[in-house]
Amino acid sequence: MTTKPPLDNLMMDYPLTLTHFFERARRLFANKTLGTRVPGVGLQKSTYADFAGRTARLSAALAALGVGKRDRVGTFAWNSHRHLEIYFAAPLMGAVLHTVNIRLSAQDIRYIVNHAADRVLIVDASLWPILAPIRGELSTVEHVIVMADTPGATIPRGTLDYEQLVAATPPMSEWPKLAETDAAGMCYTSGTTGHPKGVVYTHRAIFLHSMASSMADVFALSERDVILHIVPMFHANAWCVPFAAVLNGATQVFGGPNPQPRDIVELIHQERVTFVGAVPTVWIAIDALLEAEPRWDISSVRMIPIGGSAAPRALLEKFEKKYGVSLLHAWGMTEMTPLGTVCRLKSSMTSLADDERYAIRAKQGIPVGGVDLRIVDEAGREQPWDGRSMGEIQVRGPWILRSYYDSAESADRFTDDGWFRTGDVAVLDPEGYVQITDRTKDLIKSGGEWISSIDVETMIMAHPKVLEAAVIAVPHPKWVERPLACVVPRPGETVTAEEILDFLRPKLARWALPDDVVLIETVPKTSVGKFDKKVLRERFKDWRR
Ligand code: AMP
Repeated sequence: MTTKPPLDNLMMDYPLTLTHFFERARRLFANKTLGTRVPGVGLQKSTYADFAGRTARLSAALAALGVGKRDRVGTFAWNSHRHLEIYFAAPLMGAVLHTVNIRLSAQDIRYIVNHAADRVLIVDASLWPILAPIRGELSTVEHVIVMADTPGATIPRGTLDYEQLVAATPPMSEWPKLAETDAAGMCYTSGTTGHPKGVVYTHRAIFLHSMASSMADVFALSERDVILHIVPMFHANAWCVPFAAVLNGATQVFGGPNPQPRDIVELIHQERVTFVGAVPTVWIAIDALLEAEPRWDISSVRMIPIGGSAAPRALLEKFEKKYGVSLLHAWGMTEMTPLGTVCRLKSSMTSLADDERYAIRAKQGIPVGGVDLRIVDEAGREQPWDGRSMGEIQVRGPWILRSYYDSAESADRFTDDGWFRTGDVAVLDPEGYVQITDRTKDLIKSGGEWISSIDVETMIMAHPKVLEAAVIAVPHPKWVERPLACVVPRPGETVTAEEILDFLRPKLARWALPDDVVLIETVPKTSVGKFDKKVLRERFKDWRR
């Protein structure tokens, strides 16, 4: 009897870990530049060689403090080259990077740090005043390490000096062997109810996500890019771009403490940045600045991924036509590492008329290779891709969570056949382009008809006198809910409710027209810069026309 030679599984079982990214960058890109904006000083520059050496020293220092496999290392920090060092120092030694959102309430920060059981917290000196009052309640934290992020910053008593630790500790001589399923990082996401929930990223998820985001039809990241990090490194790992940047050996510029629109355009202008992502509210503010200060040149930027909330079509059009810069609409979630879809035109669409092309580009795009996506109605039936049928987006793939960390709320977020229920409502067109109509909680139900608040607000934001607009549901005795538009005029402009309604009338069905327009000074923002409609709903809950 002859035995058959083995045929399956003849490729190496090579673990997909961040150690590969780091070692690759250390060997291949030693001379490439990293820079951090230091207020009052300018860009503090270093190299990938410095990064590699300092990261290996930081890992050794953490080990000397007793940090071991699976221990959580929290960060409470702005975007900086030091934050990047922790991004690698913790996971490469087998520990877990936990980026804490600095903009949350003290109550949420306390909950998150205690729930994640962080053993060490690495904190920017400028942010220490937020943590100092609750330090005593962070029961699992044994050591606080402080980074001097501004000139003249002092290291508080009872904490350790990051720079001293890095300088004094010899580098890790060898990285431990890791499995690709080992936890590498974690982020908490704030839902509308209950406590924030922890999402734990494996090495494998970050590895594959970084490869996917580098693909030509996604972000097309390259060694030639100069990437500016404005998306906070505590928000879904800055969309995981720092990891992909190290994989590719790109030049990286970090926005530093609390960057304002002028700081951002100045960095783009001076450093000839080619790639910089941020949420729409940041680009709306930058547009207003560029209008007021036309001397800034941002034409070096080849791509601006924009997401986190819907990008208004008027903004895409303006950036391209006026500033010569292409915005790429993308959709994702903390639970998805975070990338789900990106909106690039297919080759068959490039010859379409302007109007049709922008209508497509304002959609959230098609799923990135690696992500399966479907829309499902309330009865659990998959909906057709007809551009009309609405349903909840459900996804699955190698960088999508399987379970939240230690949370009883996990179960109802997954379907019986293993898909993650995103809570976002969308339609899919026959070409597979996703158009988000709302978060389930933001949809407006008026007399049995659904009104997409996103549709109405992006229309309002196309009005030349409007800076920002948020549309919310207010209670109504007959129709149950009716839309109310909250509008912020551009600086120096006045606009009336009637002007806005006249502008909308030809574009909207009669029942979808907001009952009224209230003019407000600013749309409240969440901790990651999205419109906070919860606050507006509360403020206008008793509103009557
Ligand atoms: P987060 O986990 O904080 O990143 O928030 C994820 C949520 O942001 C998604 O579930 C969507 O509701 C929303 N979101 C992200 N990107 C977009 C987008 N391009 N358009 C509309 N909503 C978006």
